[in-house]
Amino acid sequence: MASPFRISAKNLGALALPSLCPRCFWIQAHVGNKLPYQIFPGIFSSIDTYVKRVVIGSFDRHKAAPSWLADLGKLSGYRIPPHHTKFNVLVQDVTVLVSGTPDGIFVRGDGSYLIVDYKTAKFTEYQDELFPMYDAQLNAYAFIGEHSGFSPVSGLALVYTEPVTDDRAAASDAHTLSDGFSMDFSAKILPVTIDAEKTPNLCRRAREIYDLESPPEPRAGCKDCNLLENLIQIASR
Ligand code: SF4
Repeated sequence: MASPFRISAKNLGALALPSLCPRCFWIQAHVGNKLPYQIFPGIFSSIDTYVKRVVIGSFDRHKAAPSWLADLGKLSGYRIPPHHTKFNVLVQDVTVLVSGTPDGIFVRGDGSYLIVDYKTAKFTEYQDELFPMYDAQLNAYAFIGEHSGFSPVSGLALVYTEPVTDDRAAASDAHTLSDGFSMDFSAKILPVTIDAEKTPNLCRRAREIYDLESPPEPRAGCKDCNLLENLIQIASR
């Protein structure tokens, strides 16, 4: 049996993007998080964490989801999403271990689970070019959930939280505080279809690329690999 290859639900989701570069995927899979220039603005994770606290706080204080999640339907409670070391599954036939931590797990009236991911981004329905990645990431959470004590998973959704930055909001005195200002966010729900085959199929593709002995050819039209090659040549003079 091949040694297990571990991959996060998010990185697995990247394989669903039409623009995926197999060479980039191979490098990332073999080098992991030691790649340079992996800086992600911390403000987005702060907002995501804040949203999670707002939602959980609503359940704890009012025994109900906040009204802006009404489009998710009736929710009777929530579960604290497990750490990725507890929320994972081995896809046996390709020995790929998929793991992750969903942003939110809610319990529906019938006892089934609804898994959500929060995105601080402009809502564009299904036009978001990253939608295939988000879709695959959420489906990976559903797949893991079914094998990790959260069965059945009956729903998936993206919750977009979009900053309200129009002129009216900017002119509102309600947003002026003594020590700064506040900003509103509007929430939009985008349902995601459950596809039980998506995760095993992507794991097969991930294994194929990972098992290549050397990185695949650069993607046609991408100049960055040539630039890197030039840099290496200049640096080695
Ligand atoms: S071709 Fe472009 S996208 Fe692919 S590995 Fe090179 S730099 Fe990355």
